[in-house]
Amino acid sequence: MNKKILVTGGLGYIGSHTAVQLIEYGFEPIIIDNLSESPIEVKDKIEKVIGRSVIFERVEMCDKSEMARLFEKYPDMVGAIHFAAYLLVNESVEKPLKYYYNNLVSTINLLEEMGRRGIRNVVFSSSCTVYGNPDKLPVSEDAPIKPAESPYGNTKKMSEEILRDFAATGAVDVISLRYFNPIGAHDSGIIGEFQDGPPHHLVPYITETAIGKRTELKIFGGDYNTPDGTCIRDYIHVVDIADAHIYALNRMLEDKMEKAFEVYNLGTGEGYSVLQMVKAFEEATGIKIPYRIVDRRPGDVEAVYADTKLANEKLGWKAKYSLVDMLRSAWNFEQKLHSK
Ligand code: UDP
Repeated sequence: MNKKILVTGGLGYIGSHTAVQLIEYGFEPIIIDNLSESPIEVKDKIEKVIGRSVIFERVEMCDKSEMARLFEKYPDMVGAIHFAAYLLVNESVEKPLKYYYNNLVSTINLLEEMGRRGIRNVVFSSSCTVYGNPDKLPVSEDAPIKPAESPYGNTKKMSEEILRDFAATGAVDVISLRYFNPIGAHDSGIIGEFQDGPPHHLVPYITETAIGKRTELKIFGGDYNTPDGTCIRDYIHVVDIADAHIYALNRMLEDKMEKAFEVYNLGTGEGYSVLQMVKAFEEATGIKIPYRIVDRRPGDVEAVYADTKLANEKLGWKAKYSLVDMLRSAWNFEQKLHSK
């Protein structure tokens, strides 16, 4: 029987792609979500991608009794991948308690259930936001932790600390994956970065401009200390990110962990500026993106890209998709969304 893996927040952007990849690699995801950020239709879309039904439970992770019921129903789970979290930086500044409560209590409740039932393997969805504006590039896992000033970033740092301390008791093993900037969509174009309302990330903004939903792209800041004045990020295909979770799980299941709490950067190691991304999109699709440089967005980090050596060596994982693949897949997804 396929090994069951709990996927919290499994209808979200990265969660849904990871659920698909888990099935591709012979695992059985138990997808849970409270539907606060993703609609139930994403479940149908996951099923369309893989051509069969999936296990889904609507669960509020902050409710201990709901979590207990879930673990009673699936006692044979062998691990969990924990994505469920609020993730809007600006909203977290306005509603810090909402972010601290949800992101931390869900993590604690998950660990309590896992510890109680002896389910040892946890993969955590972390972020390069924990490095803030790094002093040294590319940034490696041992760089100082100083999240950009937002409650959201702080919840990632604090969740890692909770996981590290719990792992130190011997109850669980944890791999924390620090994502750089996931973009793109599954090759099928059926799942991708669904968003309600205004997009929050660069690439959906570009594709929505390309399709005519927006008249122009606003580039936040042209006076940074970078070659063309715009911010630099390490963009990585969401399916590469999804795959890394399977490599992390296998490391745990094959007893290869060297420490109870391990951390890995997930990026390509290449930094691209916002202007380079616009040019690359234009070249990959032949569509011109009207843009305007506006004021800096508060809280933005000037430049960040990953040192990926550790993930390459210890997980045996390396990003496979090129920037053109990423941008074409994002565009394919946007077009499919609008073709209905
Ligand atoms: N960005 C932009 N216009 C937008 C959205 C984003 O210029 O409409 C810039 C943003 O300032 C940052 C980069 O694109 O420099 C990546 O932003 P995103 O929100 O995608 O990810 P972040 O790295 O901030 O989490």
